[in-house]
Amino acid sequence: MRKEDYVICSACLLGLTCRYDGKSKPNNKVIELFKQGNLIPVCPEQMGGLPTPREPAEPTGNGCNVLDGKAKVLTATGIDITKRFIFGAEQVLELAKILNIKKAILKQRSPSCGCGQIKDGTFSDTIVEGDGITTALLKRNGLEVITEEDF
Ligand code: SF4
Repeated sequence: MRKEDYVICSACLLGLTCRYDGKSKPNNKVIELFKQGNLIPVCPEQMGGLPTPREPAEPTGNGCNVLDGKAKVLTATGIDITKRFIFGAEQVLELAKILNIKKAILKQRSPSCGCGQIKDGTFSDTIVEGDGITTALLKRNGLEVITEEDF
């Protein structure tokens, strides 16, 4: 298989228990694709050095705002973990560059992986338009990002 055919995917979509609550969000279509051998699972929050389980976190703005230093990622108790989120996104981008990956399938509405929809930073389950931090960084670097809901 050519390296260009590889696609990054959110590890929690494969059933890996990397979510903040120690659970996963398995998606059968993504799992079937994984069995074909061209998906590279990542969890940017774990790759950024955060533990699992971990406190829920939400961005105070969209992913581009966070990357540009105009918004933060805060936990529910107010701890600033912006650097972890940006570092995790950078690690995913690094991996994409090594394998010349041009596409990613990421978990919708996650503060890292959301694409087009994220939480609004109030921890009230309010959804607003915007990308997560990893999605924003991948898009800035030319990758196409879709979600499990786009299948
Ligand atoms: Fe899943 Fe992405 Fe959250 Fe990791 S950061 S648990 S891969 S949605």
